[in-house]
Amino acid sequence: MLPWVVRRTRLPLLSLRCVDCRSESATTGEGRFRVNANGNLLDVWLLVRCVSCDRTSKLTVHERAPVRSFDPAELEGYHANDPEQVASRLLDPLLARRNRVSLDWKGAWRLDTPSAWRAEAWPVKVEVVFEDPVPVRPDRLIAQGLGLSRNEVLRRVKCDIPLRRRTSAGFTFTVLAGD
Ligand SMILES: [Zn+2]
Repeated sequence: MLPWVVRRTRLPLLSLRCVDCRSESATTGEGRFRVNANGNLLDVWLLVRCVSCDRTSKLTVHERAPVRSFDPAELEGYHANDPEQVASRLLDPLLARRNRVSLDWKGAWRLDTPSAWRAEAWPVKVEVVFEDPVPVRPDRLIAQGLGLSRNEVLRRVKCDIPLRRRTSAGFTFTVLAGD
């Protein structure tokens, strides 16, 4: 079984309409949190910037959460703007749902395939692993990875999931020999 890996090359942008300039794209930039204490309760936001006019918006990460409910290392990560914590919070589907935004993965990921795979005999079995939750359409991903047209993919590929429905969960497929 050949391994293919989908991984991000940078953080995705956010589809978020700017109230000032109507642009629909925002970035986390370097990645900054803001923490606000109110008695024993904490609010934590992830700051994002409009890519056109630089206006800053706040995405809610925690809302009125008791201080004692935080792991000390997690709290330290928020204060230090830890890059891994920025990535994990941004990629947590809960953040997008809660703030009604979606992630824009265009140009922010790549597919790594083993270079020697063409020497394999047909049929070839491939396992796709996601290091980051990039939503991809299997037919497009497979066409890209194999250098085939999407029609040829539909003809030659046997897959355990629907080929045209976006997924970011691992799957396997088999490529049959061409004509
Ligand atoms: Zn703007």
